[in-house]
Amino acid sequence: MTNDEVRTTKYEPVIGLEVHCQLLTKTKLFCGCETKFGAEPNSHTCPVCLGWPGSLPVLNEEALRLGIKIGLALNCEISGRLKFDRKNYFYPDLPKAYQISQYDMPVNGKGWIEIEQRAESREQRENQNPMPSALCSMAKRVGITRAHLEEDAGKLLHEGIKDGSLVDYNRAGTPLLEIVSEPDIRSAEEAYDYLTSLKAILEYLEVSDCNMEEGSLRCDANVSVRPVGQEKFGTRTEIKNLNSFKAVQKAIEYEIKRQVEMIEAGEKVSQETRLWNDDTGKTALMRSKEQAHDYRYFPEPDLVPFSIAQEFIEGLRKNLPELPQARTNRFTKDFGLSPYDAAVLVQEKKLGDYFEACVKEKANSKLASNWIQSELLALLNTAKKTIEESPVTPQALAGLLRLIDNNTISGKIAKDVLPLMFETGKSADAIVKEKGLEQVTDTKLIEEIADKVIAANPKSVADFKSGKTTALGFLVGQLMKETKGKANPKLANEILSKKLASLKKISK
Ligand code: ADP
Ligand code: MG
Ligand code: ZN
Repeated sequence: MTNDEVRTTKYEPVIGLEVHCQLLTKTKLFCGCETKFGAEPNSHTCPVCLGWPGSLPVLNEEALRLGIKIGLALNCEISGRLKFDRKNYFYPDLPKAYQISQYDMPVNGKGWIEIEQRAESREQRENQNPMPSALCSMAKRVGITRAHLEEDAGKLLHEGIKDGSLVDYNRAGTPLLEIVSEPDIRSAEEAYDYLTSLKAILEYLEVSDCNMEEGSLRCDANVSVRPVGQEKFGTRTEIKNLNSFKAVQKAIEYEIKRQVEMIEAGEKVSQETRLWNDDTGKTALMRSKEQAHDYRYFPEPDLVPFSIAQEFIEGLRKNLPELPQARTNRFTKDFGLSPYDAAVLVQEKKLGDYFEACVKEKANSKLASNWIQSELLALLNTAKKTIEESPVTPQALAGLLRLIDNNTISGKIAKDVLPLMFETGKSADAIVKEKGLEQVTDTKLIEEIADKVIAANPKSVADFKSGKTTALGFLVGQLMKETKGKANPKLANEILSKKLASLKKISK
């Protein structure tokens, strides 16, 4: 067996993710300081978030509201009874030497996320191995253990500073929701799919910027492996310093391999925290893992336990927006898209919005889905633009697609028109008229050209007569060339077939 085979047949990875999501509030969790990113260092601070003696925290109601909204979207049990606790540890960017978090009475209890397993269907698509669409995006449920409120720490700056380090407390006290998954994830790709599904939900809820670079979405990965068939989990390591979803996937892949190799070599995996290094593509030991009791959690005496009225929770439930899963189902049902295509469009809210705007302008929905996902995204990629910055508006794209749909131009010609629209901002109609690209559907004209093509290519005609049907494709190609791609391909094919068939009969 090769090492890869040992890894995949003898061992099963077990993964649980902890995601910290910065909540999009104007002010911090327990004081009135602004949360704006990128402000002058230490300009958004006060006695509460700097931990001065005698200062008292007051819970931000909006943070609570956003936290519950996320819990509702993640199908969490919400008892409405909650408590805050102090998690004690010293860090220079944590001025109180404790973090206010939630220990045993979190705002959101057990829940689940349904993830689309797109990694596999992506592969199948690339291998051009079409699966029945129902199988293409298989859903799997990943359990949520809890999702609790806590405050963020400040930030230490080490880089480019000669003597010592600097500390910025602007982020200290910013509201976070820590979303802890059950150890239900079984591969690095599944972890990636979990994160993209979760991010999509958060974006639809408009509760966070979800910007990994700015740190408004952070993820730690817990990874262990166990022999296939064994019920008991192996010892896990926790990986930090993951700056993108791709990094999460790569780090997990690395860590699975590292652990299997250790076990195969007769060594023991030890419970520890490891740091991912994106440059080397490896994880390295940071510290051995502390246990919950090391933090000496105890109830925050300055914030008493409290209950939320059920009406408050139900009010939030009623006002939840349409979520990705529901939108995906609607796209397949109302627009006839495959689950895969629907999921791709829905994943990024703005992409879904673009598609819907396009369909609203009477574009054929399947054409719209294909053109957005292939031609338009490719152009945007090259131009390094987001869908919102697209020079081709949904209305303009719909204009182009209508021309394909009503046979004014062929799909092939349309592929040349779209880049021109992208460059010039002109409408499809204008470009088609200007360049005289309207499709030739004049049967008589096509017949004339077909005769010309037949006369000019006696060898192919002879081939066809002798049974080489591929010669037809060549002749159609010649006809298209003659018309600069403007002949209606279906008509061209029909007319040539008919003419060749009659030639065959004559020669018999
Ligand atoms: P901690 O405070 O130690 O980080 P948490 O309860 O906050 O503990 O998070 C633990 C995370 O580790 C959860 O996502 C859980 O699913 C995951 N986990 C627990 N045991 C294992 C294991 N043996 N292998 C992989 N992941 C695990
Ligand atoms: Mg944790
Ligand atoms: Zn403050």
